[in-house]
Amino acid sequence: MGSMSHHSGMPLRRAGWRARFGVTGVVAVLLLISYCSRGSFNPNTKHRQFVALSVPEEIALGRQAAPEMIRQYGGLHPDGRAQDRVDRVGLLLVDAGHFDTSYPFEFHLLADSRTINAFALPGGQVFITAGLYARLETEGQLAGVLGHEIGHVIERHGSEHLAKQQLTQGLINLIGTATYDPSRPETAIGGRIAEAVGGLINLKYGRDDELESDRWAVELTSAAGYDPRAMIDVMRLFESIGSGAGQPEILSTHPNPANRAQRLTSMIRERFPDGVPSTLKP
Ligand SMILES: [Zn+2]
Repeated sequence: MGSMSHHSGMPLRRAGWRARFGVTGVVAVLLLISYCSRGSFNPNTKHRQFVALSVPEEIALGRQAAPEMIRQYGGLHPDGRAQDRVDRVGLLLVDAGHFDTSYPFEFHLLADSRTINAFALPGGQVFITAGLYARLETEGQLAGVLGHEIGHVIERHGSEHLAKQQLTQGLINLIGTATYDPSRPETAIGGRIAEAVGGLINLKYGRDDELESDRWAVELTSAAGYDPRAMIDVMRLFESIGSGAGQPEILSTHPNPANRAQRLTSMIRERFPDGVPSTLKP
């Protein structure tokens, strides 16, 4: 048994072919990192960032990790209409935003109704759980949540964070020491990939990252025709849910929701000095 004796920390129901297939791609992506971990200009932030991955690598990593992520949250939500709505609102925000990226955004409604969360992988894969989706009262609120996650992607927070944490080096080591032998299923490194994906979901962004993403939420919702004050309602919702153990991404405690609501109010006042136009949808 030896090689998988440590607990992976994330439940993995089955180390399926996808996880194994994914490994090759992830390894290929990671091998490139050492060549690309230099400063990079982000046209959306107008400054250089230290990022672990190039944009094509972010896209590849996001696509490789998405199926694992979906699996960990009980698959995609079976309600095709709700799924379409998430997709439609998400793409509306992407189209309305005048940001310069080549990210192929994809929006996924996850079946998990007990977890309240939304998050994004580097490269444009955005997720919202059924648990959070069901609590949102208006399309504007959905737009706010998705806009915030789009913000993390285009600001390249995940990639920046990976570079900071040197988590990527850890991943390289993990994958480098793993040897998979098909005749001995216990050697599958699916669990370790799951762990790596878990690390990406539970990324604790900094305070400034959250505020930057909230600013994008304001920008994108209003550009797409929604009242940006919907995002303040989302903060009220988060406040009422309270903070538990295992803080999900979207419920980031720093700054706390009340604080973020306050900051959102001043961002919105800056954006619309004469008041929010009544033409914007709730
Ligand atoms: Zn966030």
